[in-house]
Amino acid sequence: MRPYKLVTLLFLVSLLVIDYAYFMAGTSLWWIAGVLAVYVSLLVLGTIFIRWNFYIRSLNKSKNPKLVALTFDDGPAGQTSMILDILKAEGVEAAFFSIGKNAAAHPELVKRWDAEGHVVGNHSYDHGFNFDWKLSKNMAKELDQTNDTIRSLIGKMPKLFRPPYGVTNPNLAKAVKRTGMHSIGWSLRSFDTIAKDPKELLERILLKVQGGDIILLHDSVPVTKEILTGLIKGVRQKGYTFARVDKMLEIDAYA
Ligand SMILES: [Zn+2]
Repeated sequence: MRPYKLVTLLFLVSLLVIDYAYFMAGTSLWWIAGVLAVYVSLLVLGTIFIRWNFYIRSLNKSKNPKLVALTFDDGPAGQTSMILDILKAEGVEAAFFSIGKNAAAHPELVKRWDAEGHVVGNHSYDHGFNFDWKLSKNMAKELDQTNDTIRSLIGKMPKLFRPPYGVTNPNLAKAVKRTGMHSIGWSLRSFDTIAKDPKELLERILLKVQGGDIILLHDSVPVTKEILTGLIKGVRQKGYTFARVDKMLEIDAYA
């Protein structure tokens, strides 16, 4: 049972208990407001924290203590080819979760991802701010559209999906189930999109990194390529080996 179902069940049981206590002992009905506040807070936090697996089970970390996986979201984008150059120089295979419309705009980079041994995943078609408010069938449509775009370019149908903004909800859970994809989260969020100082960003990631981590990065921001060589060397110095996220999790990247 997913946590949100359990929490909903507990909420309903609490309402019954409060009602019973009200009729039997005159307990204050303000308890209902308190329980409701806790319930709504949990529902909201559950959408934000993908690692809670609240609405949908995402794969967020590997149990293998020796491996680390790099994942890049939002491309193909302005920094993608430079990031690919660095990965090639360092001999690292990564995962790129592609926004479908960006894939359609930069087919050569999608082909390069695949040709250089990286895995191509799905990160919705538009990545719009309204994505999480869509009906599940419309979300599924976006996922299918991105998969079709990628398949037309590399001849393989992606099976890995990363929710935009890492936000999940019941509709997304249904959409992912409908498409039969794996939801891939992360265990180490770099916050590279809001980082101001590359040195600080690199130090923070290296301080936090642990075996089995899936690191969330973006090939859409310049700072990421600035720290990438240092990040790869630093992670290796700590004794970890890089693995592609699908290999690390032992799942199929393509249908
Ligand atoms: Zn994104």
